[in-house]
Amino acid sequence: MADNFDVIVIGGGPAGYPAAIRAAQNKLSVACIDEWKNLDGTPAFGGTCLNAGCIPSKALLESSELFHRAHSEFAAHGIQASGITLDLAAMQKRKATIVKSMTNGILALFKAAGVTPLQGHGTLLPGKKVQFKAHDGTTRELTAKHVVLASGSAPIELRSAPFDGKFIVDSWGALEFDAVPPRLGVIGAGVIGLELGSVWRRLGSQVVVLEALPDFLAIADQQLAKEALRHFRKQELDIRLGAKVTGATVSGGAVNVTYTDAKGEQSITVDKLVVCIGRRPYTTGLLAEGTGVQLDERGFIKVDHECRTGVEGIWAVGDCVRGPMLAHKGKEEGVMVADLIAGRFAEVNYKTIPSVIYTAPEIAWVGQTEEQVKASGRPYKTGVFPFLASGRAKAMEAAQGFAKIIAAQDDDEILGVHIIGPMAGELIAEAVLAMEYSASSEDLQRTIHAHPTLSEAVHEAALAVDKRAIDSINR
Ligand code: FAD
Ligand code: NAD
Repeated sequence: MADNFDVIVIGGGPAGYPAAIRAAQNKLSVACIDEWKNLDGTPAFGGTCLNAGCIPSKALLESSELFHRAHSEFAAHGIQASGITLDLAAMQKRKATIVKSMTNGILALFKAAGVTPLQGHGTLLPGKKVQFKAHDGTTRELTAKHVVLASGSAPIELRSAPFDGKFIVDSWGALEFDAVPPRLGVIGAGVIGLELGSVWRRLGSQVVVLEALPDFLAIADQQLAKEALRHFRKQELDIRLGAKVTGATVSGGAVNVTYTDAKGEQSITVDKLVVCIGRRPYTTGLLAEGTGVQLDERGFIKVDHECRTGVEGIWAVGDCVRGPMLAHKGKEEGVMVADLIAGRFAEVNYKTIPSVIYTAPEIAWVGQTEEQVKASGRPYKTGVFPFLASGRAKAMEAAQGFAKIIAAQDDDEILGVHIIGPMAGELIAEAVLAMEYSASSEDLQRTIHAHPTLSEAVHEAALAVDKRAIDSINR
């Protein structure tokens, strides 16, 4: 096997594997090194996203939502079902099958594109060399014209509640429970806390979420955040804001968590505790002495807007560099770098990266929040359309939430779109496309949307920007 490549990618997650495939499509010789091992010890490409993040969490979100709807909504549809019970082992097996088919799929894609997969650890050495240590312990020194670092991220540990892998777990642990914990504690009401808190709540856990900040979903548009909090509390997710965790001790098969909030010292006892307070860049064993690649004060690999590290031929993409820790952000960076290496034009528009939280109702946004637009001083107008007025949402028994569009007062450019409601994660794609092409709200107003669809909510929100909504009262 050749030891010289045009491109070596270290990391085979959603940032690294697309970089490898696009580089191969660009007729370059490529190797992709990945060290991931699943809990049963089997190596797999796909990184956090496919093995322990996006895909398994969405599988459980889908299954748990179906279970919940079978209990709470079938009767409204006139479906009488009795004896609906949970087979968690089957649910987990389905999730594992989906994950396996997706991770095996990467190997098939590599084969078709001509990427050499190398399973084991990669270390960047000075002079565009890479040391590869295979899982069987054998070591080779590889050389490349370009090296793309895509080593991803790892969960942040809370000093006052360190992971023990059994009672105090990270998000991966919380995806693998083999029984529904009667009482579940979640530290951090961020994306993971809300998604995984929802999964286990729907399956029967009493869930308490402790969030340090006084505001809920501080990164989101606050009109949307308020609506979301109302729905989650109705679902009996016990979200406690301004809660600073001071300690967690395991005894007698339970975890006692102490925290302080506005009322003083508090405590809860839970069967499992998930700590999801964010993730940190992962670069352990990635860089040998003397490579010249620099980390910033938070441990991210320093890069410019084109993901160049500053060392000629060394690039870095995905969660290990600045920007939102999202699979699609990493993918676009990986593809951009592979095209830049091949001398093609490429760029990532960081202003139009959508965010989605896969709760029920779903939450999605792109662009600026109303708070950010207000702070910028640019005069603006907003249009809101409630799903309560959507025939399709009603037919789906999902008439909750709204679509909101913020547009500039002067030239009507769309500055932000915020959706909470059914299939918000799918609906946001139209807004991303609109913003990518600097569309105005009038452009959306003049675009025909099929009836009856959920996408009409985006159309009507655009009309509401100019108080011309047809299917809801303009305020
Ligand atoms: P990773 O996916 O972490 O992949 C890095 C890979 O590099 C890993 O396989 C690692 O083993 C390997 N590696 C690291 N160092 C080396 C080395 N030195 N040698 C060899 N291999 C190495 N994002 C979304 O956009 N949508 C979602 O719905 C979503 N859901 C999520 C749910 C959960 C529970 C979690 C934890 C995350 C979720 N994310 C989601 C975030 C998403 O998983 C990450 O943004 C994404 O995986 C980052 O991709 P990456 O390729 O940069 O890193
Ligand atoms: P996050 O940044 O989304 O949320 C962390 C939350 O924990 C924040 O609300 C923060 O204020 C809170 N927090 C921090 N320290 C705390 C403390 N000591 N006590 C209590 N609360 C504390 O992080 P996450 O939920 O861990 O997710 C990690 C990353 O994974 C995110 O960057 C996210 O983008 C990505 N992810 C994305 C998706 C998705 O796209 N649907 C799903 C899951 C994860």
